[in-house]
Amino acid sequence: MPQTYKVFENLIGLFHYLSFQNLHYFKNNKIRFHYVSMTIFSITTSILIVWMVIIIIFERLRPYRKGLPFFRDGFWTDLVWYTLIQSYFLKIIIFDFIIQPINHSINWSDYQSVKHWSIASQVIFFTITHDFYIYWFHRLQHANKFLWRTHEAHHSGKEVDFLQGSRSHIVEIIINQTIEFLPIIVLGAAPEVLPIKLMLDGMFGMFIHANIDVKLGKWKYIFNSPELHLWHHANYQEVFHANFSTKFSIWDYLFKTVYFPEHKPGNQSNNWGLYYDYPRDYFLQHAFSVKRFEERKLLKFKWFEKYYYLRHILLKKIKSIFGKKNSGV
Ligand SMILES: [Zn+2]
Ligand SMILES: [Zn+2]
Repeated sequence: MPQTYKVFENLIGLFHYLSFQNLHYFKNNKIRFHYVSMTIFSITTSILIVWMVIIIIFERLRPYRKGLPFFRDGFWTDLVWYTLIQSYFLKIIIFDFIIQPINHSINWSDYQSVKHWSIASQVIFFTITHDFYIYWFHRLQHANKFLWRTHEAHHSGKEVDFLQGSRSHIVEIIINQTIEFLPIIVLGAAPEVLPIKLMLDGMFGMFIHANIDVKLGKWKYIFNSPELHLWHHANYQEVFHANFSTKFSIWDYLFKTVYFPEHKPGNQSNNWGLYYDYPRDYFLQHAFSVKRFEERKLLKFKWFEKYYYLRHILLKKIKSIFGKKNSGV
């Protein structure tokens, strides 16, 4: 157990760092004065951290797929690049360079009727409408070859766990989060709505990807869960056009895109992720969406070889530091 405890401790430290950075960003941003309350941000961040710890514990206690290591393949890429660095910089791009200019250039006061609703009604309204949108956009990404290039990264992991949800292409995040947060800002939602919405996104994102064997019973018709979404990450033709829901599974039931067999996808590597080779490196994953190539063939370039192995050496060092700490040395 001490080993797992150390992992929690380090992960929470990093997660808190990200939350603090976002907090700092919103504090210094003009949006903050109108839309973001620091108190609510502290509460939602705390809930999110507790939720993450609960999920990590249940992943160990009741795994959907047995034998999945905590430091699974792509763990560091997902944590460092997608969860921490990409998430931080994309918030600046989305809020400063897209939402703010749109908000300033148009007078939305005639459309700000949500202002008079209760906070709960606003949260429910923005959560349901965005979830409905994302069901259709997600479905389109699986149907359209061009849009698939913005979504394949999310499907590239073969060891799916709570952190897998963070692996999303830059373009996908910019489109989805602009459509998510623009209405919240321009329609004059209460200051609490933005942090509550961010918290719900984080909670559902971790939950539906969690490697937990959980049965929702009749609630499965309303709320999405790992038993449906883990199948969406499985490498089977029959599920490629199914289980598109994010928060509410009701869309899949309503539009008849549910795939929910009695059995599980299987525990082999080829039962999961993509059917074709996909780069392991964050930058190459984005380059791959523009031009197809073989990652290993790039090793013939000296500069690439240096960069590629530097990453492995650093990872080994980090792992050995964790290992030493955990063994009590
Ligand atoms: Zn998908
Ligand atoms: Zn997913």
